[in-house]
Amino acid sequence: MTKTQGYAAKSATSPMESFDFERKELGPHDIQIEILYCGICHSDLHVVRNEWKNTIYPVVPGHEILGKVVKIGNQVNSFQIGDRAAIGCIINSCRNCPNCQEGLEQYCQNEFMLVFNSKDKEGNVNYGGFSKLINVDESYALHVPKKFADKDLPRVAPLLCAGITTYSPLRHWKVGKGSKVGIVGLGGLGHMAVKLAHAMGAHVVLFTTSPNKIEDAKRLGADEVIISKNTGEMKKHAASFDFILNTVAAPHNLDVFLELLKRDRTMCLVGLPAEPHPALNVGNLIFLRRDLAGSVIGGIKETQELLDFCADQNVMADVEIIPIQKINEGFDRMLKNDVKYRFVIDMSSLK
Ligand code: NAP
Ligand code: ZN
Ligand code: ZN
Repeated sequence: MTKTQGYAAKSATSPMESFDFERKELGPHDIQIEILYCGICHSDLHVVRNEWKNTIYPVVPGHEILGKVVKIGNQVNSFQIGDRAAIGCIINSCRNCPNCQEGLEQYCQNEFMLVFNSKDKEGNVNYGGFSKLINVDESYALHVPKKFADKDLPRVAPLLCAGITTYSPLRHWKVGKGSKVGIVGLGGLGHMAVKLAHAMGAHVVLFTTSPNKIEDAKRLGADEVIISKNTGEMKKHAASFDFILNTVAAPHNLDVFLELLKRDRTMCLVGLPAEPHPALNVGNLIFLRRDLAGSVIGGIKETQELLDFCADQNVMADVEIIPIQKINEGFDRMLKNDVKYRFVIDMSSLK
């Protein structure tokens, strides 16, 4: 066992605070990573506040993990001590079901194991990336492309969740040159979606509730920005979109976006609010045979593909780096929509 330190919440209403715990002995295929940076995702906040009703306390969140390998098991062959390595949401899956065999571990039919708020095979709780050290099986760790300089690493960390969660559906629904794509919400996921869809060559339209984000959205790669509460503006785009990716973290009216899809096109939801969305008008689906879909993160192979794509295209998150002591303030600002556009914890602040 290795002693380590992290930040944990002890209940849905308590603040995050320093927490000492132990990491297991390394298995033969495990690597140990000293965490340098970890992004803060809205999912961390949903879990800390028990909004999905499945939190195991104390909880150490964090699933946009980037660091350096400091120890390896005796059968590890894809990492060496000193290598840069990353971990996203998934740290294990059954490896046998049809979804695992296709590299879609996130849809493992025997349940994939999350990096935090889950239990390992012995029933011990997994603690996530808001900590100094973490162990992972090498098959579920990602390689950080050489094109990323060390100074880029804080901006690379959010690719491990915000990046892959938006990349996977953009690829699945074949977004590229000639597609008109809508991105709903300019937060952590939304700003990555804008950058990625732009890099894929699409015409990108951002829908936001925040007029103060218009200039940023254009700088990040949006060709057009629409304030979604402006009904007149929305109507001008009726039945014109090839794909819409909705990243909003709160319940809202889905009909105003479904109306904008062309025939046979899809709106994919990735935001997972605590409460259901209001019921939608089925007419918006049946009359133009539109689809409403969902998607969860991405598999290990696709996450590596995303990292390589971002290194080639020079795509990284826009981040505000904070010390871990400011994490409670970070969560509060996230709820107020005051994030530009991902908080990343500098783990050297954890002492
Ligand atoms: P975030 O940084 O807080 O961004 C969410 C954005 O949603 C906000 O910036 C805001 O954009 C918009 N928004 C917030 N409240 C709203 C409201 N009441 N009405 C309309 N729009 C609102 O969150 P995030 O980290 O990007 O995560 C977004 C959601 O995705 C969360 O629910 C998270 O749990 C989920 N998630 C899902 C997956 C998956 O695999 N499916 C992975 C990661 C995260 P504007 O100011 O531009 O309107
Ligand atoms: Zn996340
Ligand atoms: Zn499986």
